[in-house]
Amino acid sequence: EIKKSLNFLEQIIEEDLTKGMKRSQLKFRFPPEPNGYLHIGHAASICLNFGLGIKYDAPVNLRFDDTNPEKEEQEYVDAIKKDIKWLGFEWAEVLFSSDYFQQLYDWAVKMIEQGNAYVDDQTSEEIAEQKGTPTQAGTNSPFRDRSAEENLALFEKMKNGDFEEGTHVLRAKIDMSSSNMLMRDPVMYRILKRAHHRTGEKWKIYPMYDWTHGESDYIEQISHSLCTLEFKHHRELYDWFLDQVYDHKSLRPKQREFARRNLSYTVMSKRKLLQLVEEGYVNGWDDPRMPTISGLRRRGYTPKSIRDFSEKAGIAKRENVTDLALLEFHIRTELNKTAPRVMAVLNPVKLVITNYPEGKEEMLTAENNPEDEDAGIRTVPFSRELYIEQEDFREEANKKFFRLKLGKEVRLKNAYIIKANSVIKDENGTVTEIHCTYDVDSKSGSGSEASMRKVKGTIHWVSIQHGLEAEVRLYDRLFTDEAPDSHKEKDFKEFINPDSLKIIEKAYVEPSLATVSAGDSFQFQRLGYFNVDPDSTNDKLVFNRTVALRDSWAK
Ligand code: ATP
Ligand code: MG
Ligand code: MG
Repeated sequence: EIKKSLNFLEQIIEEDLTKGMKRSQLKFRFPPEPNGYLHIGHAASICLNFGLGIKYDAPVNLRFDDTNPEKEEQEYVDAIKKDIKWLGFEWAEVLFSSDYFQQLYDWAVKMIEQGNAYVDDQTSEEIAEQKGTPTQAGTNSPFRDRSAEENLALFEKMKNGDFEEGTHVLRAKIDMSSSNMLMRDPVMYRILKRAHHRTGEKWKIYPMYDWTHGESDYIEQISHSLCTLEFKHHRELYDWFLDQVYDHKSLRPKQREFARRNLSYTVMSKRKLLQLVEEGYVNGWDDPRMPTISGLRRRGYTPKSIRDFSEKAGIAKRENVTDLALLEFHIRTELNKTAPRVMAVLNPVKLVITNYPEGKEEMLTAENNPEDEDAGIRTVPFSRELYIEQEDFREEANKKFFRLKLGKEVRLKNAYIIKANSVIKDENGTVTEIHCTYDVDSKSGSGSEASMRKVKGTIHWVSIQHGLEAEVRLYDRLFTDEAPDSHKEKDFKEFINPDSLKIIEKAYVEPSLATVSAGDSFQFQRLGYFNVDPDSTNDKLVFNRTVALRDSWAK
């Protein structure tokens, strides 16, 4: 009896185990093409494959699917490895499809000898014209019935670089009237005179994806080759190619499909993400607005939050779009438990406590994290002149405004109760200073009667004399549309959010942040979760807002 709580791929595996497959035969792979950085969609596949590896104690290979020398680079190989490790997974072996070029070539030669592949001298346009339509059979190529000898000689010449790009291809001889268009004599090899990031100038011909993928799975003895739904129609070809090389003794890999992870308000194709990078819409693959693993890391996401998200969003059989809010929920939940609380003022206005002695300063005690008993306490300096948020003060406001207004009181977090008495304005009427008096006996935690006094609001602050200047980067969704690449007539870039990045050049943070390191996360109280950007230096702190405290989009 198969348990209901298993996802459908686990059910397939369990069935295979009951049908005689051995546990020790289970083996998986994650097969990225090194033509870009990994994104949150890849994380779904990584968590799936490596998760199955952990669950069944089975090896998982990292296989670079590097059959296209035009777009592949070492930089991407390195970035992909870094991201998988960072997510917390370990591969059994690092392998490259290009390691199998010779084996694939030898198998292709065997197919030619057996009459199952031929060299076609036509252009790609001519070949496309003969393909037919789903309801109409295609036409056989005039070169389809060449002798094996002639094919072998031509294929050898292709390999040796004797022909120009685009002049010849090797095709599988299958069925030009198949109802599956992919089975209509698909191309196995094309001529490409480009240097490959690993094999250099050695090869002048490169194998196509379909010919490479299943055979690579076979060579590595992958039991379950899990891919996304758009490859469903490829399965027939995957199996046909395996038939050509299968020895009837080894394990025969199976391709099974699951739905891609789509996330609202972003795009998830490396090609499109590359455009955003190359055309300067973002500042690189690791821009904190990007849905890449490196972007999310820089934004302050943790490996656990991404793994938890992937798990919760699940593995589906049908196309669907996951709400970005679910991803944000997971990092918020984690940071709520782990991030130290600190005070920072993003839009400062000066506040003077007129009855607080000039030159006096005192250290006040503050709790680091009310959600974590072990987080301890710290001290925060207090003085006569403070910054508070502009939004936290109004000269007049109705009863629902629980912050500071003239003639009313609020509590300064971890400090005293103050009352606003007057303001100083500049020539434009903008408030430049708020003058207050404080209740001397109301210090938080002092136990005095005045300290217990209930006032409507509590606001955060930073002592002007002690505060540190910081740059704060506030991020919003990169796109204004829920599914920017779903519009037939419009380019996805038309939906870029022009306000996705807002830089606050001069914010102020409490001095306990003097010694932070890149990646450290904090809750800026009342404002959200922020982390230290790698641009941060000893002279200039730079913070990214990871996520707001609440889902401001929720109704
Ligand atoms: P892209 O269109 O973003 O370039 P891809 O499928 O071409 O994606 P690959 O590098 O070939 O990128 O992907 C490696 C593995 O990750 C494949 O098994 C692929 O199916 C899987 N994968 C890629 N994108 C997603 C996604 N959005 N959701 C789930 N799995 C994905
Ligand atoms: Mg791919
Ligand atoms: Mg792709």
